[in-house]
Amino acid sequence: MAQRHHYLIALGSNRRHHRFGPPRTVLGAALKALEQTDIMLVAAAPIYTTLPIGPSTRSYANSAALVSTPYPPKKLLRKLKTIEAHFGRRRGQRWSSRTLDLDIILWDGGAFHSKNLTIPHILFRERDFVLRPANDIAADWRDPVTKLMVRHLFARLRKKALKDG
Ligand code: ADP
Ligand code: MG
Repeated sequence: MAQRHHYLIALGSNRRHHRFGPPRTVLGAALKALEQTDIMLVAAAPIYTTLPIGPSTRSYANSAALVSTPYPPKKLLRKLKTIEAHFGRRRGQRWSSRTLDLDIILWDGGAFHSKNLTIPHILFRERDFVLRPANDIAADWRDPVTKLMVRHLFARLRKKALKDG
């Protein structure tokens, strides 16, 4: 059997899908879509929902999943992009609202770098909506760059948020 790898994946949505519904249920459906023949769902974090403030109707949903798969990083990213496309994500939607965003945060192979893929994800240490669900299922995972565990990165970010008010 091919060697299996563990990956930590971040899931996000801030736009409803005509069939799957609001962001929260989009993520539920995305978790199911992740569980394909070659991708095993090992653990799923709760889905955190941020309700819209003011006149905006955009709510955000975020979660994280731990998966096991024989796919190397680039192949997994291709799979994730296929799933995003299936959920109606259009190309060029970067930073804007999107039905589904799937990012590779960490994997058990250490640091990985290619033209279109960097693991660990370059921004994950600054993102509360990534670290919070990651901390639920992968608190002991160590970031190969800072050598800090996810629990420490999350605590550090929360301290900083308190200090900055
Ligand atoms: P973002 O997730 O930053 O909001 P996108 O989802 O549009 O933006 O991603 C833009 C590109 O980032 C992707 O096409 C992908 O090639 C690249 N990328 C680099 N590192 C990663 C990673 N760790 N996980 C997912 N995509 C990544
Ligand atoms: Mg992405």
